Amino acid sequence: MKAVAVSPDNREVALVDHEEPTLARSTDVKLRMLDVGVCGTDREICAFEYGTPPGGSQRLVIGHESLGQVIELGPGVTGLKLGDLVVPMVRRPCDHADCGACTSGRQDFCFSGDFSERGIKQAHGFMTEYVVDDARYMNLVPRELAEVAVLVEPLTIAEKALEQLAQVQMRLPWVMSKRAGAPIGEGHRAVVLGAGPVGLLGAMALLVNGFETYVYSRSKRPNDKADLVESIGAKYIASEEVPVEGLAKQVGNIDLVYEAVGASQIAFEVMKVLGTNGVFIFTGVPGRKAPIQVDTDLLMRNLVLKNQIVYGTVNAGKITFQDAIRDVGLFVQRFPEAVRALITGRFPVEAHRDLLLGKATGIKNVIHFADAA
Ligand code: BGC
Repeated sequence: MKAVAVSPDNREVALVDHEEPTLARSTDVKLRMLDVGVCGTDREICAFEYGTPPGGSQRLVIGHESLGQVIELGPGVTGLKLGDLVVPMVRRPCDHADCGACTSGRQDFCFSGDFSERGIKQAHGFMTEYVVDDARYMNLVPRELAEVAVLVEPLTIAEKALEQLAQVQMRLPWVMSKRAGAPIGEGHRAVVLGAGPVGLLGAMALLVNGFETYVYSRSKRPNDKADLVESIGAKYIASEEVPVEGLAKQVGNIDLVYEAVGASQIAFEVMKVLGTNGVFIFTGVPGRKAPIQVDTDLLMRNLVLKNQIVYGTVNAGKITFQDAIRDVGLFVQRFPEAVRALITGRFPVEAHRDLLLGKATGIKNVIHFADAA
């Protein structure tokens, strides 16, 4: 079968003929892959800056944002049937009996670091025609979301961040005792750093959670991303026009920063204007460059004197995937055009080189393997 693979030792990215997988355990399912998203992590893997092939293999089949259709089921599978659409999870647990995270099914918090990630670390990924894996890693997607379900995995980043935010904000009793059912962001202001797919999906998630939402991104208006941001009811501020101090003036108390830009310089600049009781969430993984100067006294004073919290988040568990599927459905109802506009285009796998190695263009490019049967 066709697969897009990298061989770090030979510094090669190629469309290869890869052995088609077969069911190995009774709880396995086989998927025909429909859509596979291309993200910054894939591009880094293809630049040989990240990613590790499975033990004993020279190459790694990439791809971790996906939508597949069930075409075969082991006899022990429950809860799935032929034809179901599913989004597979990315991370698989380590095998250390003392890893409390992995033994609880929360490998997204793995302690040992010996987890694997499909398409990223020591396990082949989804940018291929067929995939086999255990049914427990599959998340059922309603048929009507087929067109946008490839956005579920990148949305899990914001979903996990917000799940943790709900726990963090239990420290503010007046926030938690608001009228039952009030969204967690009601009366709060959030700034999203970056207008790539993670940032834009994050902005949508913040809006449906009730935040007054601002997206802070480099390019000045007019541009497509600014239009998209404003079409969903968030505000766009260009860092080319408004420096960080001006951002804080425009927003008021910045209750939350959702970093989705992957660049530490601007992130730490913005951290300086995080508001009282503010929370700063990192989601980006910057490449290692030369050290930068940061005013650590100011940051530390603010952290203490303003009761601030900073946390990072990576990967996602089962509940988070389910929340993301629910919220993609909400986005389709609330921002039908914008959510579709996040998908820049669907391309045949033969176009992989441009998408992975060429100049990054658009928002979310998708490799389309097959239509849902
Ligand atoms: C993926 C995550 C993964 C992370 C680190 C991200 O691009 O979405 O699933 O855990 O990279 O490898």
